[in-house]
Amino acid sequence: MSRAEMKSLPRGLTAAVFRGLFLARIVVKFGGTSVANVERIRRAARHVKREVDAGNQVAVVVSAMSGKTNELVGWVNDSSPLHDAREYDTVVASGEQVTAGLMAIVLSEMGIPSRSFSGWQVPIKTDDAHGAARITEIDPTELNKRMGDGWVPVITGFQGVAPSGRITTLGRGGSDTSAVAVAAAVKADRCDIYTDVDGVYTTDPRITPRARRLSKISFEEMLEMASLGAKVLMIRSVELAMAHKVRLLVRSTFDDPDAPQLAPDGTPGVPGTLVCDEDEIMEKQIVSGVTLARGEAKITLRDVKDKPGVAAAVFGALADESIVVDMIVQNVSDDGSLTDITFTVPDSEYDKAVHTIEAARANVEFGKISSSKGGAKISVIGVGMRSHAGVAASMFKALADKGINIQLITTSEIKTSVLIDDEYAELAVRALHTYYGLDKEDA
Ligand code: ADP
Ligand code: ASP
Ligand code: MG
Repeated sequence: MSRAEMKSLPRGLTAAVFRGLFLARIVVKFGGTSVANVERIRRAARHVKREVDAGNQVAVVVSAMSGKTNELVGWVNDSSPLHDAREYDTVVASGEQVTAGLMAIVLSEMGIPSRSFSGWQVPIKTDDAHGAARITEIDPTELNKRMGDGWVPVITGFQGVAPSGRITTLGRGGSDTSAVAVAAAVKADRCDIYTDVDGVYTTDPRITPRARRLSKISFEEMLEMASLGAKVLMIRSVELAMAHKVRLLVRSTFDDPDAPQLAPDGTPGVPGTLVCDEDEIMEKQIVSGVTLARGEAKITLRDVKDKPGVAAAVFGALADESIVVDMIVQNVSDDGSLTDITFTVPDSEYDKAVHTIEAARANVEFGKISSSKGGAKISVIGVGMRSHAGVAASMFKALADKGINIQLITTSEIKTSVLIDDEYAELAVRALHTYYGLDKEDA
């Protein structure tokens, strides 16, 4: 290729041709800590610049500054505890608009052509479930055009537009989902999630310093981890990534933006945790992670008539109120006439759940309700469980050795969860982490 031909190519492509690299398309997402103030936004922008300079096409998705969304939610509740959900969305979506604009300004100042896009401007279309909307469609035309022309579009995370034209938000932590959805829409090669930890750990590093970074984790395990309490990625974002095969790289915003990039497994590439297809992972652990979810309320219906249709009536009533039930246990009755049913719901749904069950008494005959809030659910997760027997038994033994009582148990193909007293939650996580050999070697 001649010099003149090179010059006529868009900026990113020129660099790629020059370096002989394949041009990748990357969506990068910056969480709240990564854009907490203008200085942090500048730092985040240097990560973007590094990718652009390497010849990649980049789109950015931003969260609000950390703490901002909480503040906005507080203002809404102060104005009226019983507010219109559409106005809630108008207010709380505003945090992302600020950071998108600031990021575009900073990138432009660095010489990278950039502009901000609100959800409705892309557009990111959602359903009308205000406060917990689901993305239905993203039109990639404008984003593709901008990136093709060497621009970096900066998109507000967490928000979209309802069929009515009103602003929606996707639920707390929703910027991860925005990023993955944008990555799927523009057919990105990768979606990089910049956060305040340098990857996905075997357990929340705030619970134990012995937590170890995983270089790779499968979509399925990550989905279980996110569902069971690891808030590093929003559940829906992992579902979407799995469905559209978007490889996620969870990495730290605090890494030196100009440092040479190392891969999760130490080879040249980039540091962090790659969330990918199970087939890409050579060594499958029996247990890859331990999670903790606090605030689980337990509700027991005593002396329930043991006859067909009872469980359907109880859980049907709860489903009608959109109450998500988690663990369920029904005992076998001694004489075939009366039984107990126990289930858990999030603490935030406790009052509504108890009220719903009381109201369903006409259809469900039961004695009394006994219930408590504030339980802790501890789970061990690993794809290796599929082919190894005895993980649940060993988990119960490890907890028994610490004198921790188990109240409820649920299992699936790749996880075992127990409900315990919150007082023992962190002790249980640490004990299981050590028991399954997950502790960092030098801790
Ligand atoms: P962001 O604002 O960037 O979206 P979040 O606070 O939502 O960041 O997610 C990052 C946090 O997730 C970390 O600070 C960490 O404490 C927490 N976390 C919980 N479980 C894990 C885990 N297994 N691995 C890594 N981080 C975890
Ligand atoms: N700002 C939103 C929140 O705090 C969305 C996000 O950060 O992912 O929940
Ligand atoms: Mg988050």
